[in-house]
Amino acid sequence: MRHRIAVIGGGPAGLTFARVMHRHGHPVTVLERDPAPDARPPGGTLDLHENLGQLALGKAGLLAEFQALSRPEGQAMRILDVDGTVLRDWQSRPDDQANPEIDRGQLRDLLLGPLDVQWGRDVTEVVPGTRDGALVRFADGRQETFDLVIGADGAWSRVRPAISSATPHYTGVTLVETSLDDVDTRHPDLARLIGDGSMAVYGVNRALVAQRNSGGHVKVYAQFRAPLDWHTNLDRHMGLNRHAGLDAGLDLADGEAVRSSLLALFDGWAAPALDLLRHGTAFVHRPLYVLPVSHTWAHVPGVTLLGDAAHLMPPLGAGANLAMLEGAELAEAVAAAPGPGDLDEAVRAFEERMWARAGGWAKITTAGLERLVSPDPTEALALFDEVQPS
Ligand SMILES: Cc1cc2nc3c(=O)[nH]c(=O)nc-3n(C[C@H](O)[C@H](O)[C@H](O)COP(=O)(O)OP(=O)(O)OC[C@H]3O[C@@H](n4cnc5c(N)ncnc54)[C@H](O)[C@@H]3O)c2cc1C
Repeated sequence: MRHRIAVIGGGPAGLTFARVMHRHGHPVTVLERDPAPDARPPGGTLDLHENLGQLALGKAGLLAEFQALSRPEGQAMRILDVDGTVLRDWQSRPDDQANPEIDRGQLRDLLLGPLDVQWGRDVTEVVPGTRDGALVRFADGRQETFDLVIGADGAWSRVRPAISSATPHYTGVTLVETSLDDVDTRHPDLARLIGDGSMAVYGVNRALVAQRNSGGHVKVYAQFRAPLDWHTNLDRHMGLNRHAGLDAGLDLADGEAVRSSLLALFDGWAAPALDLLRHGTAFVHRPLYVLPVSHTWAHVPGVTLLGDAAHLMPPLGAGANLAMLEGAELAEAVAAAPGPGDLDEAVRAFEERMWARAGGWAKITTAGLERLVSPDPTEALALFDEVQPS
């Protein structure tokens, strides 16, 4: 390889970059903080859009393998009223390849393939412009210099401070994630209701969304507007204490206490919706943070950002797609850049293109979150009516 390149982070952005580089005959090493690929649960399902994530997989030569793994039927969407009435029921055609779903773990394994990933490499800091290039410092005390450092290290990027002072801020919406296993055998009524794709219920400032993954696994997201410290005083912040009979503070590590407080928060909703919470196995607290819409920076030679590190936005089906396409496009640009000056020009041009596209999606997803978790639940329905094919 002509250029010394560090890819920091082995998520969709970093792995797609590395995979496209590999295809162009320029293998690069991915430096990932997790100690092993299976160190954390991989997360839920992702829908990959034809003109974003799938385009990236095409550039990596992986589209056919993706199509063999993905679930077009996962595009089905059912919306219920809080009383259980089915308000909308969109089925998907088996040949519809617009946004098929794939489990995050399956996508990661597909991208990993032949790649060289160094696990357990925790980056703490990047210093651009040293005599020998951009310096990367690791938590174990090691340091190395590179011609180009690519920060694909997600929302809380340690690379980002080298080129931007932006930090994520809380959206006012929190998710609490739980899961159901073997749903078809253990909870057949719920399985039928969720169908092959997703099922959602929208109420006043809160929502419940269930998404089928492969192998009978279902991820459930309870979403609500709340202050960041909602769990420290349920009475004051959520008006829950009288209902739930809970102490003022909720220990987020206590799954049964979280379940009780969520059941109180969604009190009065139809039984099948509440069953998603009653049968959930573990509860993970995910307050939603975002970077400023249209986040850009003054170009710094030797360092750039991809994916959530560059443009963290509400999780409305765009983040991983953008991360992958950016990874693929940057790889193509870098692979076609023979000398150091060409490399910097290629990165600069790539950033302009990334900012324009991601800025548009950040606006769409920010407005979308406002409507999906809204004081007026008809807004959520109206949003789906606008975006779902009739
Ligand atoms: C509930 C939920 C549902 C979502 N659904 C969708 C969807 O359907 N479609 C979609 O397109 N997007 C979706 N998203 C968004 C999507 O998950 C992200 O946009 C996407 O994962 C971003 O990819 P990335 O590679 O930029 O960052 P990440 O996936 O965050 O990967 C970053 C990687 O960097 C590593 N890392 C972090 N810090 C360091 C460090 N200091 N040193 C070394 N390595 C480090 C991390 O361990 C990680 O492996 C969803 C998000 C959430 C929360």
